[in-house]
Amino acid sequence: MISKKIQSVVRDIYDFPKPGIVFKDVTPIFKDPALCTEIVDAFAEKLAHLDIDVIAGVESRGFLFGLMLANKLNKPFVPVRKPGKLPFSIVTKSYELEYGTATIEIHTDAFAPGSRVFVHDDLLATGGTAAATADLIFELGGTVAGFGFVIALGFLHGEEKLLPFSSNIISLTT
Ligand code: 5GP
Repeated sequence: MISKKIQSVVRDIYDFPKPGIVFKDVTPIFKDPALCTEIVDAFAEKLAHLDIDVIAGVESRGFLFGLMLANKLNKPFVPVRKPGKLPFSIVTKSYELEYGTATIEIHTDAFAPGSRVFVHDDLLATGGTAAATADLIFELGGTVAGFGFVIALGFLHGEEKLLPFSSNIISLTT
């Protein structure tokens, strides 16, 4: 089962990036081509019933499966980036982290108004990043077709922040 396979390779890194945090390191997944294929196929199957125009991947680990998935579904991929990285005109959104704030940006021509955008990232924690991405999608006149994560950390209740945008919240493991 894919959930168990992902859990068996993802490792907990204690005190990263700062003391007290247990970070889920997903990099071992990328060393396993068969598992990568399985992950993309699992997302593709779960997305089959959704009406999607565009896939938006969140920097940086959301780029990895995001682009592969978009290619598999023959949909455009757009990157959601950290500040100062995107060269064209942008919309920008700052949001609260546990300590401090973070900012994400997206190109103003990332998709046409009215597009249904599926948001992908490697991991859902508090939901702040994905919710900020959804805000930017609305600002550009799009709607959120759903959210897809390789891992969703249930104990942080990130889904609650996303439900106002879409109830299509897909995760392959917790
Ligand atoms: P949130 O905004 O939901 O609190 O945090 C999710 C964002 O932070 C995602 O972009 C994700 O890549 C990153 N993130 C937070 N915690 C972790 C973690 O333990 N492992 C990984 N791989 N990413 C994390």
